[in-house]
Amino acid sequence: MKRCLWCKQKAVIYMREHRLALCKECYPKWFLRMTDRTIKEWRMIEPGEKVLVAVSGGKDSLGLWFALTQLGYEADGLYVDLGITADEYSQRSKIYAQQLAERIGRSLHIVSVAEEIGQPVPLLARVSHREPCSACGAVKRYLFNRFAVEHGYSAIATGHNLDDEAATLLGNVLRWQTSYLARQAPVLLARDGLVKRIKPFIRFTEKQVALFTILNRIPYIEQECPFAEGASSLFYKDLLNRIEERSPGTKWAFYAQFVEQVQPLLAEREGEVALQPCRQCGMPTTAEVCTVCRMRARLADLTPL
Ligand code: SF4
Ligand code: ZN
Repeated sequence: MKRCLWCKQKAVIYMREHRLALCKECYPKWFLRMTDRTIKEWRMIEPGEKVLVAVSGGKDSLGLWFALTQLGYEADGLYVDLGITADEYSQRSKIYAQQLAERIGRSLHIVSVAEEIGQPVPLLARVSHREPCSACGAVKRYLFNRFAVEHGYSAIATGHNLDDEAATLLGNVLRWQTSYLARQAPVLLARDGLVKRIKPFIRFTEKQVALFTILNRIPYIEQECPFAEGASSLFYKDLLNRIEERSPGTKWAFYAQFVEQVQPLLAEREGEVALQPCRQCGMPTTAEVCTVCRMRARLADLTPL
């Protein structure tokens, strides 16, 4: 049995990549320290900034919201109700978000895709002939940004962890999707109506985030979104875990070296795509009318008078 390196009690985790074993009391302290270090290293949150956390009800976003408030940051939550009724996914995940909001005494804002756009995500995907995750991603990005702009939040924080980021990186590298690679960074600075986006959990694996959330007794929705099944990112995560098993630290090296050495070059090469306000809603877009307004229009055409 391993002992905690800090206090010699029974360890609950051994992190091979850090050669560090910690107990249930010391681990959350280490985790918060690492989170703060990541935030400061990347200058994710400036003093006095108000942060909007994208809260889904899962372990990563709830753990992130909790960690940020523990560290003393001004962080409120935004829950986007996707209207996914299979297994009561949306209803149940919202309850977990509300429970945490009550515990930490911060505001949880809620917006509903059906109310804002006209239909819930599953129907929206069908009428716009997109995969559910593609429609969902576009709508979430839009609603988070609009809410932050309208309510004075200058940073949007998401709970992406190292497993998520390394899997996305692998997927983009396998197809050399340079325009995506150019934008894959722990911080995307604000520009032309787009609010800054930050990922304070990039240093942690999925398991490390789960342990932090569990040790802090934060209930979260364990079930995956029904649309996540079969996603290629799950396959990439599995591959990366197998590589990590053989060679601890590879996952972080893969991601960190990319962010340090390759992403800035690609960002410079690709340049920034010009953004302009959408003719209909005023939110930034590369076209005349944004994706979400086009979805809205298509829905209106389909809705009988
Ligand atoms: Fe949306 Fe797809 Fe994520 Fe489900 S898995 S929440 S549909 S992006
Ligand atoms: Zn628009």
